[in-house]
Amino acid sequence: MKKRILIANRSEIAIRIIRSVHKLGMIAVVFKSDREPDALYLNDADEVIPAKDNHNDKAIFLDPENIVKLAVENKIDLIHPGYGFLSENPDFAQLCEDNGINFIGPSPQLIRDMGLKTVAKSMAIKCGLPLVPGSDGAIADAQAAKAYADKIGYPVILKASAGGGGRGMRIVEKPETIERNFKSASDEAMAAFGNGDMFIEKYLQNPKHLEFQIMGDKHGNVIHLGERECSLQRKHQKIMEEAPSASVTPAMRKEMGEMAVRFAKTIGYYSAGTIEFIMDEDGSYFFMEMNTRIQVEHPVTEMITGVDLVDWQIRVALGEVLTLKQEDIVIRGWAIEVRVNAEDTQNRFCPQTGFIDLIQFPTNENVRIETGVRSGSVITPYFDSMVSKIIVTGSDRKTCIANTLAALDNFILDGLKTTVPFCKAVLQHPAFIDATYTTRWVDQVFNTDMLENEDEELIGALAATIMYAQEYLQLSSDLPTYKNDRLNVWVLNKRLNY
Ligand code: ADP
Ligand code: ADP
Ligand code: MG
Repeated sequence: MKKRILIANRSEIAIRIIRSVHKLGMIAVVFKSDREPDALYLNDADEVIPAKDNHNDKAIFLDPENIVKLAVENKIDLIHPGYGFLSENPDFAQLCEDNGINFIGPSPQLIRDMGLKTVAKSMAIKCGLPLVPGSDGAIADAQAAKAYADKIGYPVILKASAGGGGRGMRIVEKPETIERNFKSASDEAMAAFGNGDMFIEKYLQNPKHLEFQIMGDKHGNVIHLGERECSLQRKHQKIMEEAPSASVTPAMRKEMGEMAVRFAKTIGYYSAGTIEFIMDEDGSYFFMEMNTRIQVEHPVTEMITGVDLVDWQIRVALGEVLTLKQEDIVIRGWAIEVRVNAEDTQNRFCPQTGFIDLIQFPTNENVRIETGVRSGSVITPYFDSMVSKIIVTGSDRKTCIANTLAALDNFILDGLKTTVPFCKAVLQHPAFIDATYTTRWVDQVFNTDMLENEDEELIGALAATIMYAQEYLQLSSDLPTYKNDRLNVWVLNKRLNY
């Protein structure tokens, strides 16, 4: 009997997973959401389950009970959660297991542990990983935060233990604003993640974001597949990624990779996972968090290692032994991923909605396309603004940058604004070319941040209020409902005439 895999996700990642499901000779099943009845991914699936989104006022992708009920009815063997949505929701993973469905990911308990950054950090300490100076556990209240900050010195960053996608985070420069920031971040985290616990870290001024891909099986084997550099961020959201990182020497790669593997082995991790590090200007690096799912940017790792991460996710979920050994992992060449987000980079990266009149992807050599849309697709306000990814390789970094620029020259999208012109500018900037860019760089150099801090807080407060209203008062399903989505400022502005 062929295994039946339900993909509890949409867009490009659903299509990506379907490819692996077919390669492994299995049956790919997806949901049709009534918010997106003509989505491209529906064409690639073997079976489509129509789903009533308005059950509980949530999109199907965020509705654990409904997903599992439909999965059981449709005789599903495995569920692949993709990224975002319920991919890091331990209750969902548990519900799958309780109903005899194989959840593709690590154990529910590990998802729970890694989902709380304070818990993850305490486990990292036990494994001897270096941590950013700060309160490793949660801090009681705003006064305690202030006392802590006085001790470690400003600037500090307040982070929600349950946070994700850059949410529930505040940088605090001076003592006068710490109490207010603590409260707004904690409220935002409470509304978005149902947990307002906060911790504090020293804020590194110009760091790099480096992350190690790992893969483990259910028999205790774990390997790493090198690092990705994800420092190109705007407001803590990744825009472009590359692998390997120009800032990581072979000796560092070995040391950090071994650390990542030791951590994963110690906690009993299996499936794909990512261990995120933050690196300071002096080259010292610290464990930041672990993501227990496939990442948006996994293709850059696949391109330089030749390993199909989604295939292995499915195979180890079925109990297969990971036959890849650490010495089999050889890094060849360079890869860059450009996220094509439907956003207006000239206007605070506001998400764009409407029709894609025409979309044409580059057919250059060394280009891999992952797309959730085609010409004629509609971009709704209900989901994430990322519509496609353009992944380009080259024999070395310089060639890869040139190839990426050439590929973007052959990319056409009419009807909506995207992040592509912005990425082109970045690719030609000296700080990108010499790889000195840091996580703050986009905001500093491109001055994308037209909002004052005060406005930002106001918008944060509005978002928290709306999410609260939706959760508890069951208001209009017309508002952006899913918890994991980045703050859709555009929709908020429009709905509230703010
Ligand atoms: P990474 O995978 O590297 O951590 P992100 O943090 O951007 O990168 O990816 C995870 C987040 O991506 C999710 O929490 C969600 O907000 C967002 N996301 C992007 N695209 C989608 C999509 N098609 N479906 C669901 N979530 C998405
Ligand atoms: P998330 O779950 O939202 O991904 P992370 O803890 O991974 O949260 O942090 C997201 C981003 O925030 C990082 O990639 C980095 O840019 C920034 N960041 C986090 N912690 C610090 C810190 N201590 N100093 C400076 N920047 C930080
Ligand atoms: Mg992170």
